[in-house]
Amino acid sequence: MYDKLAADLAALPALLDAARAQAGELLAGLDDRPVAGRPGAGRAPLPIEGAGARAALAEFARRWAPGLSGSAGPRYLGLVTGGATPAALAGDWLTAAADQNAASSVDSCAAGLEHETVGWLAQLFGLGPEFSGAFVSGATMSTVVGLAIGREWAGERLGVRVADEGFAALGPVEVLSGAAHASVGKAMAMLGFGRSARQQVPLQPGREAVDVAALDRRLGALGGRPAIVVANAGTVDTVDFDDLRAIAGLKRRHDFWLHVDAAFGGFAALSPEHAALVDGLDRADSVCVDLHKWLNVPYDSAVQFSRRLDLQTRVFQSSAAYLGEPGEDPDFIHRTPESSRRLRALAAWCTLAAYGREGHREIVERCVANARDLGSRLSGSPRWRLLAPVRLNVVCFTLAEDPMPERIGAVVRAVAAGGETSLTPTVHAGVPALRAAFSNWRTETADVGRIFTALDSAGA
Ligand SMILES: *Cc1c(COP(=O)(O)O)cnc(C)c1O
Repeated sequence: MYDKLAADLAALPALLDAARAQAGELLAGLDDRPVAGRPGAGRAPLPIEGAGARAALAEFARRWAPGLSGSAGPRYLGLVTGGATPAALAGDWLTAAADQNAASSVDSCAAGLEHETVGWLAQLFGLGPEFSGAFVSGATMSTVVGLAIGREWAGERLGVRVADEGFAALGPVEVLSGAAHASVGKAMAMLGFGRSARQQVPLQPGREAVDVAALDRRLGALGGRPAIVVANAGTVDTVDFDDLRAIAGLKRRHDFWLHVDAAFGGFAALSPEHAALVDGLDRADSVCVDLHKWLNVPYDSAVQFSRRLDLQTRVFQSSAAYLGEPGEDPDFIHRTPESSRRLRALAAWCTLAAYGREGHREIVERCVANARDLGSRLSGSPRWRLLAPVRLNVVCFTLAEDPMPERIGAVVRAVAAGGETSLTPTVHAGVPALRAAFSNWRTETADVGRIFTALDSAGA
């Protein structure tokens, strides 16, 4: 054995303790570290002999750790960024320690644990036993899986096995959506629909929710050709929700696959006060939910659900003598784009086992309360103006006067430089704006006060 490997093996328990201590320092420093990170400086040459794990950890601490952001902490409001609950973090460490390949169920319980976790998640989101699910790396991949099954379903309608014969045998398939997330275009490009096959359906006035009557007309204009509808359950700017039940009702008249992007909005289901926003989610054909956002497990983790495991397996099966036939209950290798895959479910399993539905409901509701708190502080100030009501966990706002892109950019930079918080700029309904997304379990009322103070001085 290579000498440095042998030395690390001999010292493994102490090495793991050292890594734990280093992780502890990262977490303890969250309150002081600037919330926005910074790019690293320079590239070191490839190590030829290596320095051993201790020295590698020290070099990481010296060269890279100082540039990390505070995205795991309570005041990072950029994109939609979750933290990692204590149990999720511990589960993720154990995932690496056990280093299982959850591709198959042949030689370990890894797949069984994933099935149990997917079942728990389905129950959280109100999805019945007709849905199967699997872990993927993020909502984008979850949407890739959903649209791939939708593509196969359209082929089934027209007598084409797309996975075998190719998209050319099928012809174009329209994807209709209101305020679709950018990941839908990415998925369409990957899958061969082409980005331009997306039809933007009109929205309700002043909203990001689709105009269902307009969708009805667009579907009618397809002349019976099967299509895919991507419904949005939680848009990133104003967290608006399509009327999922009404959209599903259109199936009585039109032939379409219904994919719901519930990347973070799906978590509304955990809160009785907000569950009506996702009413009808169980009528979808496929559903995408991110877990590294509002479940607060470490990157990267999401779940995909669908009700046509047969078509899913047709697309994603990986055939070889040593892998066996997919059969009725196919291994995970036959369900998603990945073949080998980590036991990504364990972090989600741990956080659900540790805090249960009630603990995660509390996180969701506290995030919503924090967003409302920031929203009311902003609307109480003459400097700011809300661009939408705070429907869930995101505040979309702008300067009350003269919200030019340069001024919004200057606010974002000033806030980041101050180190107290980090936000993402956007343009909503043509107006340059800011969005503050609350999805971290650590955030408390006192943090909202610090965030507002930092914002208000940056906007002055
Ligand atoms: C974040 C997000 C996505 C993409 O998720 P990734 O995890 O980054 O792949 C898709 N849709 C919505 C609504 C999102 O918020």
